[in-house]
This record gives sequence, structure tokens and C-alpha cells, in this order.
Amino acid sequence: MNKPVEIGAAVPLWIAGRATPATSGRTGPVHNPATGEVTKRVGFASAADVDAAVRAAQAALPEWRDASILRRARVMQRFLQLLQENHKALARIVTGEHGKTLPDATGSVQRGIEVVEFACGIPHLLKGEHSENVGTGVDTHTVRQAVGVCAGITPFNFPAMVPMWMFPVAIACGNTFVLKVSEKVPSAVMRMAELFKEAGLPDGVFNVVHGDKEAVDAILHHPGVAAVSFVGSTPIARYIYETCAKNGKRVQALGGAKNHAVVLPDADLEFAADALIGAGYGSAGERCMAISAVVAVGAAGDPLVGLLAEKARAIRIGPGDADGIDMGPLITREHRDKVAGYVDTGVKEGAKLVVDGRGFAPAGRESGFFLGTTLFDRVTPKMKIYQDEIFGPVLVVLRAQTIEEAIALVNANPYANGTAIFTESGGAARRFENEIQVGMVGINVPIPVPVAFYSFGGWKSSLFGDLHVHGVEGVKFYTRTKVVTTRWLRSEPQTGAAQQDTPAPGFHMPTLG
Ligand code: NAD
Repeated sequence: MNKPVEIGAAVPLWIAGRATPATSGRTGPVHNPATGEVTKRVGFASAADVDAAVRAAQAALPEWRDASILRRARVMQRFLQLLQENHKALARIVTGEHGKTLPDATGSVQRGIEVVEFACGIPHLLKGEHSENVGTGVDTHTVRQAVGVCAGITPFNFPAMVPMWMFPVAIACGNTFVLKVSEKVPSAVMRMAELFKEAGLPDGVFNVVHGDKEAVDAILHHPGVAAVSFVGSTPIARYIYETCAKNGKRVQALGGAKNHAVVLPDADLEFAADALIGAGYGSAGERCMAISAVVAVGAAGDPLVGLLAEKARAIRIGPGDADGIDMGPLITREHRDKVAGYVDTGVKEGAKLVVDGRGFAPAGRESGFFLGTTLFDRVTPKMKIYQDEIFGPVLVVLRAQTIEEAIALVNANPYANGTAIFTESGGAARRFENEIQVGMVGINVPIPVPVAFYSFGGWKSSLFGDLHVHGVEGVKFYTRTKVVTTRWLRSEPQTGAAQQDTPAPGFHMPTLG
């Protein structure tokens, strides 16, 4: 049993530019996963709290939407500077609540900050198109306008980065925002909300609510919310997509993953094994872009499994804020036990257990949510450890005889977030890129997370909706296009006469000649 700790007031919500206690009376625990202790509690928003946040966002909308693009960009620039100054502090908050190592947390905050950098270029990104003389004396141009109050709902595994995939782009486009961050990791966005205010963001433009299904449902059914971005597991992503569609909201819902790495026999196996170890066990496998399934082709199989086993055993596991640690704990005790249960299942299913992480805890950290690294070989597509997203430090190896077989295997999987191929053959890599049915592809790059000025998103059960997040697709998601067709009858104010060649509007379908 953990010792009870002194816990102060619950983490509040952020509504209309100030910290506001939740009114539901319900709270949830926030842990330090490395010690297992409850370090604070977080207030859960009621439907009334969500309504207050949406109303604050609605009230702030007209002024922010009509602010000049340069004013919005300059607030972003100041926010960017404050984020850079607070980069390390934000990473420490992430490590304290999520458990990932400090260098990993620092890198993830950096990837989020890069989206703010991208959003600083909003004057260029919101430019429309213009065509002169689409008909005689008729011009057409497009404008991109904010959609209104947008909402974001985010998962536990990237407490700062995934929220930053959404709100900087939405707000730069002139929208206002309500964020429902994972209740397991509430503090990083609270700090970001303070920094955004300090950067000059008007109150009500950015609001944060915490909580569970009650808060999420209040967002999904609120008539004042125009668009919802979601990142989380596939069953919830599907629910968010269907509910928003029913309620007439624009929606993008990114789901779970089972990311495959295909290793061809001609690959540099030492390089591939190092890459796969980082991609499989980094952040304790709790990344949507983690490699969780390796497809070893032909003669690559035995030597690759040997290298992976050696390197998996050498991983240094411990608290994320200690020096020289490669992998921290999992997010909660329940999740750690669930992942360990999958290892039991794999053994029962007949997979070959090469490295067994069950029961491991660093000395003196027995109450933390730790699990060792696990490696399975000879896994088949029928096994549950292959079919399910385990979201832990469990890497499974499947064997294929040819690249055709490997591509068919990847394409038969319902998830399609990211994938990678390891090879020295340009032709094989090109074929893989062309035939693979997955949204993000790495060629000798194990975790191909696109930089902020490209867009991030998977296919199939890894994304419900049409548009990916951030980059140009993010700008499209957070704006509506208006197409304006213009005719001026008189070119000289004094003449008073209509131009001779201007046809009078008629009853037939207009054509412009
Ligand atoms: P989750 O689906 O349990 O939770 C995500 C969000 O939904 C949280 O804010 C949570 O409070 C809320 N939620 C949970 N249950 C709900 C319910 N029944 N009704 C309404 N809302 C609910 O996901 P998680 O465990 O926080 O995060 C891990 C998952 O996220 C993994 O599946 C991972 O692959 C996925 N993920 C995907 C991406 C991506 O880009 N595709 C990125 C990061 C994480």
C-alpha cells in the first residue's frame, strides 16, 4: 500500500483567462508513475462547467476572429518565446505526471513548440486564391474564415505535444478553443494556458476543462461547438466521430495503432535493431507511433531477433527524471497489469517468449508502475498479442518469406498509423512506399512523425475523418472556404451607364463567357 499523501486543492479548470474550480465535486487522482504515489487530484468538469467554457469561447470569438492576422501572429510569436523559455519546466511537468524520461519529454515538448512556430506563419497560410476574368468583367476569389468555437480532446501519452497539434493552429486561424486534456496528465496545459495569457491572448480564446466521459459528452452535444479534434484510442475515436457527425460538427478523430517495421535481409541489421529498440520501447511503448510489430523478411529473421534480444535486455529502466535512464514506468498500475496480462496471453497463444519483462521493478521502486521489456518471436496474425494495441514495452516479431508477403501482412491490419521499412534497396523502398496502405511511412526511419509544416495522421482505423492534424491540413480543418464571385457594372463613377457588354441576369443557369 502507498502512504497517503497531503494533497492540496484539485487542479482547476481554465475558463475565461483564469483558474476556475470544477463544480461537479468529482475529482480524479494524478500519479507520479515512478513512485506510484498520488501527487495531486484534478477536478472533473460537469456539463455546466463545459457550458461555461464554451460560453467564454463564444464571447471571445468576435473580437479574436476579427483581429488582424498580424495581431494574431504576434501573440503566437510571444507565446513561442515563452514556451522556449519554459521548455525544460514543461518537460519536467510531463515526466512527473506521465513517467517518460526527461530527454524524451523535452523532445516531445519541442515537437509541440514547432507547431506554434508553424502557426506564427498564419498570414501566409490564410491567403486565398484570386482569378481575374472568370467571365467577362467577373472575378472570383476565395477567403478562409474561422469555423467558430473548436474543441480538442487529447490522450495521456503526450500531455503537451498532442494538445499543441491542435490549439495553436485553430487559434491562429481566428477560432476560440476549449481543450479537454487527459485527466491523467492535467498540469502541462494549465501552465501553457498561463503562458498564452502572458503572451497577450485575450481571455476566453483558450479554455481548458478536465474530466472524463461527462465532460467529453458535454462537448460533443454542445450546440456552440463547431469542430472537434480528438486523439486517443480507436473505440473512443469512432464514438467521437459518429457522435459529432450526428450533431453536425466538423470532426477529425485520430485513433490507436499497431505500427509495423519491415526489415529486409539487405538492411544494416545493427542499425535497424538499434532503431527498433528505441521505437519499440521508448516511452515504454506508450506512443501512437511506437513500432510494436516487426516483420522480419527471409534471412533477416534469426540475426535480427538475436540483436533485438541483446539490446532489449540492456535497456536501463528507472524513474524518468534520473540520469542515464532509457525507459520509465507505465502510466498507471492498472495499465501496467493489463500489459503484463498480454505477456501471459502471448505465452498461452504459443508465441516464443525471448525476453520476459514481467515482475521487473528497479530496486527501491517497487511501488512504481514499472515493467521490463518483453520480446516475442514467431508471432502470427491470429494471435491477440498481434491483433490488439498493447501500448506497452512489448515488441512482437513475425516472419515473412518475401516483401510481397510482408506488405500484404501490413495492409491486412486494420490499424494504419505509421510504418517503416529497413533496406538498402531503393527499388524495394519505392515499392513499399507505393503499395503500403498506411498514413505515415519511414524509410530507414523508425518513427516517421512528420514535422509541423507537414500534416500528421493515419489511415483506416487510425483516423476517422478526412483531414490530418497541423500543417496545411490543420489550417483546412480549422477554416471554411468561402468563394466570392464579383461583377462591377460601372468602371467609371461619373458615366452612370451600365457597361454595354454586361448581360442582364436571366432565368437560365448562369454561364460566364
Ligand atoms: P483514450 O481513448 O482512453 O482517451 C483519450 C481521451 O478520451 C481522454 O481525454 C479521455 O478522458 C477521453 N475518454 C476516455 N474514455 C472515454 C469515453 N468512454 N467517452 C468519452 N471520452 C473518453 O486514450 P488514452 O489511453 O488516453 O491514450 C492512448 C491511446 O491514444 C492509444 O490508443 C494511442 O494509440 C492513442 N494515440 C493516438 C495518437 C494518434 O495520433 N493516432 C496519438 C497519441 C495517442
